[in-house]
Amino acid sequence: MTAYADSQEKKMTQRIYNFNPGPSTLPLIVLEQIKHEVLDFHGSGMSILEISHRSKEFEEILNDAITRTRHLLGLDDTYHVLFIQGGASLQFSMIPMNLAVSGKPVDYVNTGTWATKAIKEARILGKDARVVASSEDKEFTYIPENIPIDPSAAYLHVTSNNTIRGTQYRSFPETGALPLLSDMSSDIFSRRFDPRPFGLIYAGAQKNAGPAGVTLVIIRDDLLERVPRDLPTTLKYTTYSENRSLYNTPPCFAIYVCDLVLKWIEETVGGLDRMETANNQKSELLYGYLDSQDFYSGTARQDSRSRMNVTFRLPTPELEQQFLAEAGTARLGGLKGHRSVGGCRASIYNAVTFEAVSALVDFMKDFVAKRG
Ligand SMILES: *Cc1c(COP(=O)(O)O)cnc(C)c1O
Repeated sequence: MTAYADSQEKKMTQRIYNFNPGPSTLPLIVLEQIKHEVLDFHGSGMSILEISHRSKEFEEILNDAITRTRHLLGLDDTYHVLFIQGGASLQFSMIPMNLAVSGKPVDYVNTGTWATKAIKEARILGKDARVVASSEDKEFTYIPENIPIDPSAAYLHVTSNNTIRGTQYRSFPETGALPLLSDMSSDIFSRRFDPRPFGLIYAGAQKNAGPAGVTLVIIRDDLLERVPRDLPTTLKYTTYSENRSLYNTPPCFAIYVCDLVLKWIEETVGGLDRMETANNQKSELLYGYLDSQDFYSGTARQDSRSRMNVTFRLPTPELEQQFLAEAGTARLGGLKGHRSVGGCRASIYNAVTFEAVSALVDFMKDFVAKRG
């Protein structure tokens, strides 16, 4: 058991094992630090909720969050780290508005609900959005292979982890000079990857990086050059890059919590590689159990399984109802599948401990045993 899990589990007496898909569980030590600081931030005599976004205190938080993001992901100076409101969903619109190129198509891989919504927004904006690969034929249960790369497109957009269907890219398509863009809302900071092929990465914070209310956007210099001059000010990436996300009031509290989460990954967990190892151990435990029996069945194809969202079914919808009800009584929460697909889903993001996943597996075994 790792030290951070240990310290967290000892205090788990009143907190449930929380498998919510988003907003989702936060590290307990982060919540405790917030509690501690909420009346008096670093001796300022004010709450972090009560200070100017232009104050020295907030400047430090913002700088720290940017520095930690750069460090954790290994971003070089060509990348800008921005904090934007409007959720990951606003990025579905901002991307085509800012990064489409006149006369060129914009390419998308469709791997489920979120990708579908991204494609829809590009089309609303009148862009020539092409679906170059899709897993819709098998209910989005896998990640397509051999994704065609057309260098004449403006970009290729992928969704690294499909929160609802429980699939995740193992490796990303090699796009050469074609900028790769990714929605990483539900797996950012969960594993190491090479950022260099990416022109833009975005993530709503509320899955793996913090609370709802802010979206992390990482954009490379060359893509900022595409931003049209005639867009509304707050919809232009350059407004955020040129003003260090302080053109107007940013979501200060959400950024503060993100900073604490990033600090937790770096200093308590020990960095992204350790975070990834912990995530692998959790997902291996759960998938290992799923594969060892035939009462529960995983819904994602094995080679496409997500290490963040584990989707599974029971033999009947009635049993699923019972399972969810009994899980709730056993203090295991958030296991209901997305309303669009049904079934069950355990979201085992960074802040979910190995012990929580063990408790889930034990509960699953008991549930089967009770039914003979
Ligand atoms: C949750 C989620 C979204 C939507 O995020 P909002 O911040 O609610 O707009 C988009 N993409 C993915 C992959 C998600 O998991």
